[in-house]
Amino acid sequence: MRLIRNKRITYGWLILTILIAILTMRLAWVQLVMKHQRVPGSRHTMVEASLIQRERGIVLDSGRGHFTDRNGKPLTGNLIWTAVLFPAGEKELRSAHHQVAKLARILGTDTNQLLQIWGKLKEPQLWHGADSRIPRSLSKEQIKQIRELELPKLKVLPYEQRYGNRQSGMQWLGFVSGQRKESLFFQDYPEISGTSGLEKTMDSLIRGEGPTVVYFPVNSTNEVIQDMKPMVKAPDNRYYPLRVSTTIDIDIQRGIETITEKAGMKEGAVVVLDARNADIVAMVSRPFYNPEQIHPKDGQWENRGLKAATPGSVFKLVTAAAILENGLSSPNEHFHCDGEFGKFGLSCWKKGGHGTIDLREGFAESCNVVFATLAERLTPQQMTSAASALGFGQSVGWQSQQFLGLRSFAPLDHEEKGTVFSGSADASDAGVRVQTGIGQRDAAVSPLQAANAMVTLLHGGVKTKPRIVKQIRYANGQLLQDTNPLYEGPAGNGISRETSSILLEWMEDVVQEGTGSALNHRKWTLAGKSGTAQVKVKGRARNNQWFVGYGPVEKPRYAVAVLVENRSTNSSNQATEIFGQVSDFLASVEAGSGSA
Ligand SMILES: [Zn+2]
Repeated sequence: MRLIRNKRITYGWLILTILIAILTMRLAWVQLVMKHQRVPGSRHTMVEASLIQRERGIVLDSGRGHFTDRNGKPLTGNLIWTAVLFPAGEKELRSAHHQVAKLARILGTDTNQLLQIWGKLKEPQLWHGADSRIPRSLSKEQIKQIRELELPKLKVLPYEQRYGNRQSGMQWLGFVSGQRKESLFFQDYPEISGTSGLEKTMDSLIRGEGPTVVYFPVNSTNEVIQDMKPMVKAPDNRYYPLRVSTTIDIDIQRGIETITEKAGMKEGAVVVLDARNADIVAMVSRPFYNPEQIHPKDGQWENRGLKAATPGSVFKLVTAAAILENGLSSPNEHFHCDGEFGKFGLSCWKKGGHGTIDLREGFAESCNVVFATLAERLTPQQMTSAASALGFGQSVGWQSQQFLGLRSFAPLDHEEKGTVFSGSADASDAGVRVQTGIGQRDAAVSPLQAANAMVTLLHGGVKTKPRIVKQIRYANGQLLQDTNPLYEGPAGNGISRETSSILLEWMEDVVQEGTGSALNHRKWTLAGKSGTAQVKVKGRARNNQWFVGYGPVEKPRYAVAVLVENRSTNSSNQATEIFGQVSDFLASVEAGSGSA
């Protein structure tokens, strides 16, 4: 009996012990394992979530991949120091009125305004002034003065401003969306994604492993707990974020941005390609945009370097190439221009005409009568294939079918192909061909294509594919992927070497004695083709002005396309003037680097 009772107790104890053991293990499971698993529907583990309820963070680095120019100069990832205001009661602020007034002077704002903003804060806020939502960068002197104030509810903290807060013509870089500038102190990090430009086309590659964040312990009313130290959290991965080297030269990009700004250029683009391999060295689009402050509807973020526009006489390169390739004229054939073509309502730009003029002079003088006559001789097919051989009517940007796990990769966002004949036009109609042959009607070319056509001609008709991405590296510097310049031989469907060299000579004439003679006394000897296209903007007659060319003629270094859009019909060709300034600037850059 006693034995049995003892046995019962033993069993009882045993069962209890097992139960306790199970509970303990379950608790240990929760404590040791489950807390590191993600809470359903959240980006955080239980441990992180429990901390974050009591903390607010500021992003030091988004963890997104960064871009550099061809010399390794950063294009993204600008660390600034900014003032952060933590919630404080009005009473508290009023009692520190003297210091707050000092602070207002340091920040360059009005004391009452500062008191009003600060007194109403429910959340910590990065100081951005009243007129903008972009946090203000503080100078060293401002930081020193602010620290001397010793205001307990004010901190100076670093913060990543991805692009720097500036207007630029770097629309090819694009921008990210998802960040809320006004409340960068967050409880849960907002999802950021690339919305245009390289930020969009490379989004899946550069997303990274999450941000580096400084967390501040706060109490239930969002006041920072002063005696607890802030804590930095960062993803631990030596391979990410990736670093993307572009082919852009940021100094040249900015130099050309300044030229377009001083010239008062309102709409258009300047594209500079390396004449040796068609790499994009600079691409400036007007009007400028500020990637930190995008207004989705205003269109300033659109890259006009990649948008097709009516080319005007720049398209005479296509007509001339088609005529030469098919042997339908010779450089010495003579034409007569009395200012009127006599058909299709077409006249020459020169009142009274050019008189007797040969083919070569007709190109230098950009005579419409000569080119209308030539276009009538061509079949639509001959024009289309000459355009295609120069890279028109198709995308020309470097692309890859297999790239780091992506099925297709085209780094240039929204690159337009342009057109030769539109689908609806009957190209067998001579009037359609004549209008197209002088770059009107449906003909459309992007500045990138125009500059690339120069490089193709300089390479004897070999088709080139402008790159903007040069290399991708891991965070630790190890090379992940190189891209190589692409060339497509003129096998059957390109411009021949002979035709290429004739067109290059003719473009020299344009500057020596033709429509580009204003470029005669620039630092480099230049060559190129001008263009003035008649377009309609909101029903009004306007002009597109172009100059496309290269320099120096003796040893070509850069190919440049300038397009100025929406100009008054009686204005001078601003593109030619800007082309001259850009080439002088490039000449001085080359001289400075010692490679001229
Ligand atoms: Zn003429």
